[in-house]
Amino acid sequence: MCDFDAQNIRKLFPYLIAKKNKGVVYFDNAATTHKPGSVINRILEFYSAENCNIHRSSHKAGAFVTEEYEAARALVRDFLSAKNTKEIIFTSGATESVNLVAHSYGLNSVSEGDIVLVSPIEHHSNLIPWQVLAKEKKAIIQEVPVNENFVVDLEKLQSILSGRVKLIAINHVSNVTGIVQDVKAIVSAAKRFNIPVFVDGAQAVPHINVDVAELGCDFYCFSGHKVFGPTGTGVLFVKTDYLDGLNPYKTGGQMVSTVSFNHSEWGESPLKFEAGTPNIAGVMGLGESIKFINAVGMKNISIYETELASYMDEQIRKIPHLTLYGGTLRSMPVFSFNVNGLHHYDIATLLSEKNIFVRAGHLCNQSLMSCLNIDGCVRASLSFYNTQKEIDLFIDALKRVLKFLIR
Ligand code: PMP
Repeated sequence: MCDFDAQNIRKLFPYLIAKKNKGVVYFDNAATTHKPGSVINRILEFYSAENCNIHRSSHKAGAFVTEEYEAARALVRDFLSAKNTKEIIFTSGATESVNLVAHSYGLNSVSEGDIVLVSPIEHHSNLIPWQVLAKEKKAIIQEVPVNENFVVDLEKLQSILSGRVKLIAINHVSNVTGIVQDVKAIVSAAKRFNIPVFVDGAQAVPHINVDVAELGCDFYCFSGHKVFGPTGTGVLFVKTDYLDGLNPYKTGGQMVSTVSFNHSEWGESPLKFEAGTPNIAGVMGLGESIKFINAVGMKNISIYETELASYMDEQIRKIPHLTLYGGTLRSMPVFSFNVNGLHHYDIATLLSEKNIFVRAGHLCNQSLMSCLNIDGCVRASLSFYNTQKEIDLFIDALKRVLKFLIR
C-alpha cells in the first residue's frame, strides 16, 4: 500500500482526533465527510470578525466579504475546469441543484409528449425532480438503459435517442455501487440529437478529478458537505450556452437588473440564480475545502483511495455468504452489501456498538434497490483519511457481528 501519510492527514480533521471519537471507524463518507480544521476556522473567522452581507453593502467590510465569496466561486470554477465563473452557481446542495435545473430548464424546454431520460440507478435527488417535472408537463420519464452491472448500455441508449428526448440525467458515480459512468461517451451520443446531459457528481467530486470541459456535459452538480465542506452548500455548473435562456428558479433580492411595481428584469448569471442572502460562511468554508483538496492533490487522493478500495475489496470478498453489489467494476471506495438473510439494519446497528459507523437502508436509491430485488443493504464508504488498519478493524468487527447474528 502506498504511504500516503493518512495519519498526518487525519491530524488535520478535528472530528477524527476528538477524544469523544477515540476508536471510531467512520465508514459513512458517502453520506457526509468530515471537515478539516481550516474549513471550520474559516467559518468561525467569518462570523467572529468579518460578518456582513455580500453584493449589497457599500462599506469596505462588505467589499472584502464579497471578494472572498467570489474568490470561492473562482476556486470552484478551476476545481471543475469550467471556463467561466458565470457557469458556477452556488446552491444549498446537489438536491437543490437538480431542482434548479428541473425548474429553470425543464419547465421551459420540456413539453407534452417529450421524453426525459433518467437512469434507474439514481439517488432520489436525481429522480424525483424529473418525475415531478414530467408529471407537470405531461412528458414521459423513460429509463436510460443499463447493463447487468448497472453501467449505461451505450448501444441501447443510442437506439432510443431522438428529437423528442429533452434531457438525459445520470450520476457520475453511484452512491450504491461506486461505479463510474462513462459520461463523455453518454454526452457524445446525446450531442447527435442536441440533447443536454445533466450529471449528478455528488459521489464523484470527493474522489476523482472532474473536468466538465472534458466531459462535455451541460449541467454538473455536487454537494459541499460530501467534499469536506459545510452542509447547506452546493454547486451547479451550467454551460454558458444555457445561461441566458434559463429563467431563475427562485426570485428576490440581488438577482435583478431593474424592478418596477409590475415588472422585473433578471440580472446576469450567476447572481440571477442566487436570489436572497446566500450561505456566505458556508461558501467560504467550501472554498477552504477546495484549497485543502488542492493542497493534498486530487491525484494523490485518487491513487491512495484506489489502493484502499482494492484492499477493502479483497478483504470483504473473503466473508462467506456476503453479496457485494456492483460486480468487479467498482473503482470508488463505496461498498454496499448484504449477508444472506440477515437484516441490514441489524448488521449496521451491531457494527455501531463496536464503534464502526456505516449506513444501512435503501440509501435513497429505491429504484436501484428494486433492480437488485432487495429493500436495503449495508454501505461502507471510505475516504482518503481512512486507513488499512481501519479496514482490518471493520472486517474483524463484521465477522464478530455476523457470528453473533448467525448463531
Ligand atoms: N446524489 C447522490 C449520488 C448522492 O449520493 C446524494 C447524497 N447522498 C445526493 C445526490 C444528494 O445530496 P444532498 O443531500 O447533499 O443534496
